[in-house]
Amino acid sequence: MASKKEVVGWKTKMMETVHLGNKTGKMAHAMICMNSKPELSKYSQAAPEDGVCDQWVFTGTEIASVLCSNCVQRLMSFGPNRGLIQKED
Ligand SMILES: [Zn+2]
Repeated sequence: MASKKEVVGWKTKMMETVHLGNKTGKMAHAMICMNSKPELSKYSQAAPEDGVCDQWVFTGTEIASVLCSNCVQRLMSFGPNRGLIQKED
C-alpha cells in the first residue's frame, strides 16, 4: 500500500473575476496566498509585517500553492540575494 503523502491543503474557492475594475459575472478558481499560513509558506519572509496575508489569487486547478502579487513584490523588494550567504573572493 502506498503511504499518503502529506499535502498542504491551501484553501480554494470559486471567485468572480474582475476586468478593469468591473465584475465580469464569470467565476474562476482561486487559491489563498500561501502567506495566509506563514509557518507553511516557502516565502514567509514576504508575509505582511502586521500578520498573515489574506489575498486570493486566480489559479488553475492544478496549482498546488500560490504567492499573491503583494507578497511577490515584497519578496522582490528584499533583493535577489537576501538571505543567501555569498562568498566574495
Ligand atoms: Zn500574499
